[in-house]
Amino acid sequence: MDIQHIEASHQQFMTKMKQEDPGFFKKLGEGQEPSFFVLSCCDSRTCPSTITGMPLGTMFTHRNIANQVVEEDDGLRASLHFALDVLKVKYILIIGHTNCGGILAASTGVRHEAMNNWLDHVKESIDSFDKTNLSPTLEDLERHNVKQQIIDLKNHPVYKKVGRGIPVVGMLFHLESGELEWINDN
Ligand SMILES: [Zn+2]
Repeated sequence: MDIQHIEASHQQFMTKMKQEDPGFFKKLGEGQEPSFFVLSCCDSRTCPSTITGMPLGTMFTHRNIANQVVEEDDGLRASLHFALDVLKVKYILIIGHTNCGGILAASTGVRHEAMNNWLDHVKESIDSFDKTNLSPTLEDLERHNVKQQIIDLKNHPVYKKVGRGIPVVGMLFHLESGELEWINDN
């Protein structure tokens, strides 16, 4: 694909939305009232609105490699605070996925100077998997990572301060089947 594909695709998108609802973009321009704050991976196959079929205006989204909650991450802190305190979202969703390159890299010890700090966060998360009874598959680690990030999100100072105890829900998107597996933190 090249850049011209975006132009053509965007024209189709505008036409479709206007056909479905002539006032769609006017309403979009008037403001947002999303019910969900979403933390998901950067992976190009896992766009949260697309995989859930949710319309624009419903998901306030922060993305990073392997959907990590990192307390020192200013970007996450600001977007989480804005979502909780200003937009008053009702739910937090943490969406991981199968065949996650970030989890694979951290679990196989990939090192790269530009990524080491981030991969260390991912490694810390997957290292908390209990390996006493079995050696985990990549999918076990991806599922565990979502569980760990639910815990970390609930312990994030912003959630503790302005989170109102709203639900933090985990999900694992199965690329190979399209299924969305719901995950809780226990
Ligand atoms: Zn990923």
